[in-house]
Amino acid sequence: MNYTYIALGMGLFVICLILYYAFFMTKEDFYKYTQDNLYEVPWRWEWKKKEIVNLKCHCLECGETLVYENDYLLHKTYFLCPSCESQKAVIGGGDSKYAFGIIKREINRKIRTKEYKDLIS
Ligand SMILES: [Zn+2]
Repeated sequence: MNYTYIALGMGLFVICLILYYAFFMTKEDFYKYTQDNLYEVPWRWEWKKKEIVNLKCHCLECGETLVYENDYLLHKTYFLCPSCESQKAVIGGGDSKYAFGIIKREINRKIRTKEYKDLIS
């Protein structure tokens, strides 16, 4: 057995590993994009692979997590702060499921257009 080949093989493996991580880091930096102001309130979320999870919006004044209330009659979702006892945001068009869908779409749109890069730096 020639040890040069083994050393060469291991060297190549390490180079591949470094290249892979370098590529991965620059390509997938949207993982750092975990907050944004959308519809007048700050939103925070986590990434699970390419899925947005734990999406929550917060109160600008006190930071409390907002609760939502559906208006099935007017097809609107109101976001209320339990601490300030006031309405902080309203998203029209549907119930909370629809509203969260809109926010996720907006987040994914900013990733597609690379707009998020200005927000994470
Ligand atoms: Zn508040």
